[in-house]
Amino acid sequence: MALVQASGLHKTYRTGDVSVHAVRGVDFSIESGGFVAFVGPSGSGKSTVLNMIGCLDRPTGGTLRVLDTDVASLGRREAADFRGANLGFVFQDFNLIPVLSAAENIEYPLLMVQNWPLAQRRARVAELLEAVGIADRADKRPDQLSGGQKQRVAVARALASKPKLVLADEPTANLDHVTALRIIDLMKAMRDEFGTTFVFSTHDPRIVDAAEEVFHLEDGRIVNGAGGTA
Ligand code: ADP
Ligand code: ADP
Repeated sequence: MALVQASGLHKTYRTGDVSVHAVRGVDFSIESGGFVAFVGPSGSGKSTVLNMIGCLDRPTGGTLRVLDTDVASLGRREAADFRGANLGFVFQDFNLIPVLSAAENIEYPLLMVQNWPLAQRRARVAELLEAVGIADRADKRPDQLSGGQKQRVAVARALASKPKLVLADEPTANLDHVTALRIIDLMKAMRDEFGTTFVFSTHDPRIVDAAEEVFHLEDGRIVNGAGGTA
């Protein structure tokens, strides 16, 4: 059973009389442990696909199963619960909480979303700080961290509750070349270590090179899926 399975997936945005067909009937499946990228020009539908997988946006047609759940049928509250229980997110602008330290940012979902007990939270945060290579920056706030360090915190936070699936929207867009390569390596190492599936939306050819499967979107359609499932 694939981790993510989309069939005839559609998304149409309606604003007044105007309809934008952002995603026009795409089929794909993503296996557990995958390192998968959706690529394509600006406006081709990458973020929309990622947002539907992440239950931030609902399909208007077709079927989408994520972790064996029909996510199109989830209500707003159920979608939020599903996200908190099963998914991690990494964003291009890091989205860290400025007043919290690196360690506290990583701990935050364990405390606020999953309610782990203190001892487990501390153990998991220590493990993650080590895994992403910033144990020595644990007490620093985001404004005291470099871009690469901030994205390491964000990757650790996304992984904190051991989600099966992490969705990363342009995670290297605000990083310099060397840092971007390091962050891609880091995410792959985290996939190898924790078995977490990573799905990217990106323009970044370095992510395309690192990906094991690439779905090329154009105008809301998959125009080829190197590796086959398109
Ligand atoms: P990409 O991530 O590849 O740049 P998007 O998925 O963001 O593409 O956008 C696909 C299309 O859907 C674009 O034409 C975009 O303008 C449109 N779109 C995206 N989000 C919305 C929205 N919330 N309302 C209306 N149109 C949208
Ligand atoms: P792994 O499966 O990676 O070997 P473990 O299951 O041994 O990891 O857990 C690693 C850390 O996460 C431990 O501190 C453990 O107590 C904590 N942990 C794992 N799952 C939960 C959970 N559902 N609630 C609270 N703590 C958890």
